[in-house]
Amino acid sequence: MRIYDVSLTISPDLVVWPGDPDVILERVQKIENGDLVNVTQLQMSAHTGTHVDAPFHYLAKGKTVETLSLKLLTGRAYVVYLPDADLITRDVIEDAGIPPRTRRVLFKTRNSKHWARKNHKVFNTNYVGLAPDAAETLIQRGVKLVGVDYLSVAPYEDLAETHNVLLKAGVVIVEGLDLSQVEPGRYNFFCLPLKIAGADGAPARALLMGV
Ligand SMILES: [Zn+2]
Repeated sequence: MRIYDVSLTISPDLVVWPGDPDVILERVQKIENGDLVNVTQLQMSAHTGTHVDAPFHYLAKGKTVETLSLKLLTGRAYVVYLPDADLITRDVIEDAGIPPRTRRVLFKTRNSKHWARKNHKVFNTNYVGLAPDAAETLIQRGVKLVGVDYLSVAPYEDLAETHNVLLKAGVVIVEGLDLSQVEPGRYNFFCLPLKIAGADGAPARALLMGV
């Protein structure tokens, strides 16, 4: 069975959200220096690369990432391909052909081309995100997990509302997926954020497997 790794590679070359710290991977023990082992120290935001947003990211009393349900983070998912969308609205969702009873939706947009480029270190403010009315429509349809292929589920000009709508409804947000190698359709999805106490988010390894 084919496994699609839809996670970004964490490295100092990875684009980060404006104002977030750059990724620093520092080898603090080195075999070549006579140490017994190599040990790397990681320094990065909880929202680096492919990651999950916990409700606490936007809600002062929201749940933190280590408490998110693994049942929501794993299971059947539907990949929607929207090559022409600049903004995902209610109308776009209604025309997207998402099967009824879909609980996890991953949106493949022109954003995914970004990850295929050699140099994607420059942050692109013109990425495709979900408008608040799209978030509301997904919730009405019973969607419990929303995944996107850039670093935020919401458009750059209006970050708060889409996040608030989804997180208040208990919808899990997965950001920074690389869906460039994946055809639209049904998959089994596995998204495993690191279990970091009290965190507003966490980097995750995310996989799709054929059903
Ligand atoms: Zn985030």
